[in-house]
Amino acid sequence: MKNIYIIGNGISGVTAARHLRKKSEHQITLISEESEYFFSRTALMYSYMGHMQWKDLMPYPIEFWKKNRIDLLKTRVLSIDFKNQNLMTREGQNLNYDILILATGSTPNLSNWPRQNLTGVGCLYHQWDLQKLEEYSKNIQQAVITGGGLIGIEMAEMLHSRQIQTTMLVREKEYWSNVLPLEEAQMISAHIRRHGIDLKLQTQLKEIKGSDKVTAVVTDQNDEISCQWLGLTIGVRPNIDVFKNTELEIDRGILVDAMLKTNIPNVFAIGDCAQQRQAKPGRKDIEAVWYTGRIMGKTVASVICGERTEYDPGIWFNSAKFFDIEYQVYGEISSSIQENVESIFWRHPTVEKSIRINFDRTTKKVLGFNLMGIRFRQEVCERWINQKNDIQQVLQNIRLAFFDPEFFEDCSNDFIQLANQKTGMNIHLNAGWELNNVLNFLKN
Ligand SMILES: Cc1cc2nc3c(=O)[nH]c(=O)nc-3n(C[C@H](O)[C@H](O)[C@H](O)COP(=O)(O)OP(=O)(O)OC[C@H]3O[C@@H](n4cnc5c(N)ncnc54)[C@H](O)[C@@H]3O)c2cc1C
Repeated sequence: MKNIYIIGNGISGVTAARHLRKKSEHQITLISEESEYFFSRTALMYSYMGHMQWKDLMPYPIEFWKKNRIDLLKTRVLSIDFKNQNLMTREGQNLNYDILILATGSTPNLSNWPRQNLTGVGCLYHQWDLQKLEEYSKNIQQAVITGGGLIGIEMAEMLHSRQIQTTMLVREKEYWSNVLPLEEAQMISAHIRRHGIDLKLQTQLKEIKGSDKVTAVVTDQNDEISCQWLGLTIGVRPNIDVFKNTELEIDRGILVDAMLKTNIPNVFAIGDCAQQRQAKPGRKDIEAVWYTGRIMGKTVASVICGERTEYDPGIWFNSAKFFDIEYQVYGEISSSIQENVESIFWRHPTVEKSIRINFDRTTKKVLGFNLMGIRFRQEVCERWINQKNDIQQVLQNIRLAFFDPEFFEDCSNDFIQLANQKTGMNIHLNAGWELNNVLNFLKN
């Protein structure tokens, strides 16, 4: 029986602990400085907006940990003596490990702006960020958010839900146009504005004003905007400062091989803090998303239990919500036009909904799906991409992909009409979306 310590109780660390327990009798301890119990970071906004209570953010009941013999330790690991396999905690405890899993997640990027430590300036990543926002935003009227990614828009929606007048400063030409294709980015920019957010594009933060509290910001367009809250949401980076100047090999993240091993024997790294030495084709070496953390957690447990497993992130997938618009992406969708990629893009004539399907211009193989305001079934899209199905086959069967069609307007005919015009094909729609058809498709 080995003594396994996991630093970080986020999705990757917790998944590793759960699978280690399923597969072994090892002694398992999860350490976190942030919270005693695992919570869903992706749902932080819903706690602020009153849709969920804090207890609802915890996916497992408190008894779960004892029942599964997973020990929890709430402390900060200050340093690690890799030679002697020893962790030193904030309280001065020395903990000896046989196997160590580093799952320390991300930390918000900061640009070292003068006065970024004023009261009323904050990020959105940790539980303590939410507490700070909760306390500080009680009696304020105006807020500014700098950064136009997924966390920035969540913070905008949170503040907006409490009637705080919010300005977003976004460096790009449109909201998230470094990730979304232009049409979708434009649609989301308009949607943000429709919600009353003052979206300032191609604008960056130049100066923070105030003495003890933030009172205003100045943009690089020399606009001065009064505010009592400034949200800094310019992205995240691996949380690895504690490993700097140690024998652990790090670059932007902790370097790992396909089995999630670091350069130090018996030390593994998973989740947002891990950087693949060799990323899979078409993938990034650091992917700070929930589902890859979960896959890494499961993989590392298998590796530690002696299985020859390699990390396989599968087909790229992400989902989010931009105020009222749900977003899903499966496979390869780029923000820039690529020579060998053809795109069928349909937008609903009156409401903010769109479907984009990308395929290879030469082979006609389908590459990716980008959906706004319409949900497609993940298993169906993944199968089409994995099986390298050609676009004609996918379009004919597109109804199989629609999720919960009974709740949405049927737009498959309009979409196919547009696809036929754009590609010169003459597609006729096959099977309907009845669950039986979907199950038969997935079975074959
Ligand atoms: C507001 C928000 C919304 C998001 N929405 C989505 C989404 O919709 N979809 C999606 O895929 N992803 C989303 N993400 C990203 C996703 O939450 C992360 O990719 C994921 O939580 C990372 O999990 P992890 O296990 O790697 O680390 P984390 O969840 O970051 O957990 C790491 C833990 O380790 C602790 N720790 C670090 N260092 C030490 C130390 N030295 N000692 C003790 N403890 C330490 C940290 O305090 C933290 O609690 C969102 C993130 C945020 C912040």
